Amino acid sequence: MTCTLLTGGFGYIGSHTAAILAENNQKFVIVDNFTNCKKDVVNRLEKITKQKVNFFEVDVRDTEALVKIIKENKVTSVIHFAALKSVSDSIMRPLEYYEVNVKGTISLLKAMSYSGLKKFLFSSTAAVYGEPDSCPIDEKHKLNPLNPYAQTKIIIEKILQDISKADNEWSIAILRYFNPIGAHQSGLIGDDPLLKENSNLMPEIIKVVNGSINYLNVFGNDYETSDGTGVRDYIHIMDLSEAHVTALEYVNKNTGLNFFNIGTGKGVSVLELIKTFEKVSGFRIPIKISNRRKGDCAVCFADPKKANDILDWKSNHDLYQMCESAWKFVIKNRI
Ligand code: UDP
Repeated sequence: MTCTLLTGGFGYIGSHTAAILAENNQKFVIVDNFTNCKKDVVNRLEKITKQKVNFFEVDVRDTEALVKIIKENKVTSVIHFAALKSVSDSIMRPLEYYEVNVKGTISLLKAMSYSGLKKFLFSSTAAVYGEPDSCPIDEKHKLNPLNPYAQTKIIIEKILQDISKADNEWSIAILRYFNPIGAHQSGLIGDDPLLKENSNLMPEIIKVVNGSINYLNVFGNDYETSDGTGVRDYIHIMDLSEAHVTALEYVNKNTGLNFFNIGTGKGVSVLELIKTFEKVSGFRIPIKISNRRKGDCAVCFADPKKANDILDWKSNHDLYQMCESAWKFVIKNRI
């Protein structure tokens, strides 16, 4: 029987991946320090999975604790989600980002090495490409980090490449996520970060719906795009999470290191997303056009062919379904 360790398993992507693993009767254990998620996620995940969730409140920088957890739970593979993830926050607090993301990963990799564990899935990001030369972006596109957050992910990718070169028994998949939005079909879990400086588009739309802000700032309408607003590759969180389950199967059967873009391959503008959300919810989202956000690119969408072909994975949900699930999460959790 395999057992997968999910670091940061109660976060947005981790908790949805845990739900899918449970649905597939796959055993997992979670390590989380609860810096960016509510403890209530544990109960919610237990409701969804209809089982007790095996977890440890541990920081990934605690190598000794990780070694013990790996041993006692007979862990056979690791998915490493635990990280700080806000671009703007990383510009203000770069040291914390290097400390948690880079040092945390080194600690985890050491714990794996001590335990003879060599199957690893890493959460990376499309932010490693920065302002792309052209779209769709494939995995060979040059790297151009525009902020400390993206820089930490690139450093970790390089460390993983060196590990793979040094020992060909390692099996590593690096998943570069595009823009996950939406929620689990139950409406019990979704994108609900504790650290509110996070200003991704969908959480900001939800702030407007909940009345915590009066309007949505649209960062620029003078880009060279169909309506002037930024274009991104939004992907349903369940599709993105599903990619981990197929990538896990792949690393369990193969060795070596692979990069995979996890996106839909379709670009959607800020205004298009807002319009679709309004259609789904019947809620009008007041907007204000403001200056471009520093470090934003005009257009970014994936060429997901490698993941489609090698992992036999593809996204299945459209923008309407993404907004529908995000809306359900709002309604279910309204106070
Ligand atoms: N965006 C916006 N208002 C917001 C947050 C985001 O107009 O309050 C825009 C942003 O400029 C970008 C798109 O929405 O064009 C997606 O931004 P997000 O932060 O969600 O993802 P990322 O920039 O990391 O791709």
